[in-house]
Amino acid sequence: MDDDPDLGNLVRVLLERRAHCVVELAGDGHAAAAAVRSFEPDVVVTDIEMPGLGGLELLEAIRREAPWLPVVVMTAHVSVDYAVSALRAQADEFLTKPLDNAALVEVVTRLAAEGRARRPGRPRQTVLAVGAHPDDVEIGVGGILAAHCEMGDHITILTMSRGARGGDADRRQMESLAAAELLGARLFMKDLVDTEMVGDGRTVRLIEEVVNEVAPTIVYTHSGHDRHQDHRAVHDATIVATRLVGTVACFQSPSATIDFRPLRFVVVDGFLERKLELLSCFASQSDNRDYMAPDMVNATARYWSRFTGGKAAEPLEVVRDTVDLAHLVERSGAVR
Ligand SMILES: [Zn+2]
Repeated sequence: MDDDPDLGNLVRVLLERRAHCVVELAGDGHAAAAAVRSFEPDVVVTDIEMPGLGGLELLEAIRREAPWLPVVVMTAHVSVDYAVSALRAQADEFLTKPLDNAALVEVVTRLAAEGRARRPGRPRQTVLAVGAHPDDVEIGVGGILAAHCEMGDHITILTMSRGARGGDADRRQMESLAAAELLGARLFMKDLVDTEMVGDGRTVRLIEEVVNEVAPTIVYTHSGHDRHQDHRAVHDATIVATRLVGTVACFQSPSATIDFRPLRFVVVDGFLERKLELLSCFASQSDNRDYMAPDMVNATARYWSRFTGGKAAEPLEVVRDTVDLAHLVERSGAVR
């Protein structure tokens, strides 16, 4: 929201191109207040001095109506008074003009994610991704995990071995930690013997311990349609260990067989770059594995998108999906 159309357009173009935002521009405070209700933004960026309803009054109005909605205040007047009163009225960030483009993009990206996470109506999910080896879950659901991260969901990664057969175990553990950190995820690493895994009671109990600790609402794991014996073993054990979890789905590994038969396709447009970033954490593998090459990752996601309206997708075999309609109805009633 800015009464200066040139600056408003500059901010719009910047946020569209560099932060991949959908932007609605308002020229005065009243239009802005109306847009907050109809457009339902994740974050508001507002000038402080505008005709009609001023920036500070708008901020107060937003705090009354949508206290969770992040607000960035920008002003040409570098005045301590403005800063103090804006912050007192609970702006989340304060930017001075002329705008620092990079700072604007950074602030809006960060606050939009927070805004989505704080918005009432969508309960936070607790996601558990279980893989046999380091990098398995990032290859299978890296885009989906990046999207969960963006929505403020809690993510836990459970890796059943330190991957000694694919390279130095300590190095692969450090790589796993770096990838988990990028996702803001908790990482559990077990010490099963690489290539010798079995889906027996002991493996089930290892997974159950983590399931009990994090209480996931969504679980992703290997498909049983996989020629790698470790992947099949982890699939079998996870299916048993997550029997009380509402949603369980299986991802595709590079070793999946042609029996891998997904029925859910998750559009991950905008998250492939993040997925490639995650995979680049596993440098000890990506140097010598064709399936980690960016063109292969992109081509695979592009291929699966043929079932969706998007440009990139990750496929899932659904083991179980539980939807509580009563809960949803109650929730939508509460929002109205
Ligand atoms: Zn693997």
